[in-house]
Amino acid sequence: MSAITPYELRNAEGKSFGNQPLSICDETFTPLEVQYDLESARPLFTKKNIEAGPANIWRYRSLLPIPEGFEPDLPVGFTPLVRAKNLGKRIGATNLYVKNDAVCFPTLSFKDRVVSVALANAQYFGFTTVGCSSTGNLANSVAAQAARLGIKATILVPADLEPAKILNTLVYGAQLVRIDGNYDQVNRLCSLIADQYNWGFVNVNLRPYYAEGSKTVGYEIAEQLGWRLPDNVVCPMAGGSLIRKIRKAFNELIYLGLVEDKPVRFFGAQATGCSPIVHAVRENLDRIEPQRPNTIARSLAIGNPADGPQAAKMIRDSGGWAEDVSDVEIVSGIQELAETEGIFTETAGGVTTAVTARLLAQGRIGADELTVSVITGNGLKTTDAITDQYTLGRPVRSRLSDFDEYLNEINGISADEEGELALAGGK
Ligand SMILES: *Cc1c(COP(=O)(O)O)cnc(C)c1O
Repeated sequence: MSAITPYELRNAEGKSFGNQPLSICDETFTPLEVQYDLESARPLFTKKNIEAGPANIWRYRSLLPIPEGFEPDLPVGFTPLVRAKNLGKRIGATNLYVKNDAVCFPTLSFKDRVVSVALANAQYFGFTTVGCSSTGNLANSVAAQAARLGIKATILVPADLEPAKILNTLVYGAQLVRIDGNYDQVNRLCSLIADQYNWGFVNVNLRPYYAEGSKTVGYEIAEQLGWRLPDNVVCPMAGGSLIRKIRKAFNELIYLGLVEDKPVRFFGAQATGCSPIVHAVRENLDRIEPQRPNTIARSLAIGNPADGPQAAKMIRDSGGWAEDVSDVEIVSGIQELAETEGIFTETAGGVTTAVTARLLAQGRIGADELTVSVITGNGLKTTDAITDQYTLGRPVRSRLSDFDEYLNEINGISADEEGELALAGGK
């Protein structure tokens, strides 16, 4: 089965570039987008076909840029959308959901979605080596998926990336090059390498195809809400692609009649130490003023975001807003989500959670509105960010009396007293 909707790259003015490994229009220097012949998608992209599909992103394949003959078999995505009653109670929301890409397959971030679509195209275009410039999660996903497809991977990262993200790349046998510099410098170098070596860089020359993978977050949210759109989406931003593609997914669902049209407000989240898109939204700029990143939210640390201007415009057009939070708030956000919902997210998810709380406190998001907070990565990859929040207790001998004594020591109350209190409370 491979019913595909015709697609091609176009610039913002609608000029066609066919299908090729190219990300920027050489005349307007704006990002190229994959555009579909939506009318021919109408009989394919139906609720019935989608629901009969596999429980992964390929159930939406008729609106993904999947080249002729490619049969995807990796079960990427379709992560849980969970009702977050406890977190909601803590931060003042009665209708809050968390989209949990902390458990995305195979490498525990939403980047698995974009990489699977990009690598399908890399193979189609005949690249024998693929790569990426990465703030960490993309590196992990390219390394893992290239290993499975048997393609060589060369991955460039800023030299001072978190150790867990480096190890999570090396383990798949990828070639990792640590560059002295920040992400924006790494990314510029990758553009030169892609041309010089004829390699397929998923987020450089394959970027338009890569970016389409993010639409699946939007499709899943709508389907998991029972084919409805939420009132608000709160989404972390690095390059600004994910938040735009959730909007694009909603637009396609509306156009094809799978959901009712209604206003959805988009809220962007960044760390204060790297918040160029938030700045553009606040100041109503149509361009990005690049920043030098300095934040623990490394996965969002892109100072000159490729989709920044378009993301800022989309957010404003939707009636939404953007906020940034400090590193201290990011750590609290990670802890809050873990303590209330049992979800351990990385620093980017701390950003999203803290920004969601801020927007509720400001009244920009109403307490009873249906709000989806998009959690994009797993906390096991950024444990450095929170280790100093916890101290280990001393080891205790394996005897009940030692345990009693220890509890007394840490709680300042003896086991006997605790028993009596419990009895008194039970009356
Ligand atoms: C890459 C990344 C993002 C942001 O994605 P963009 O599409 O570049 O805005 C958000 N969260 C995590 C964990 C990421 O790795």
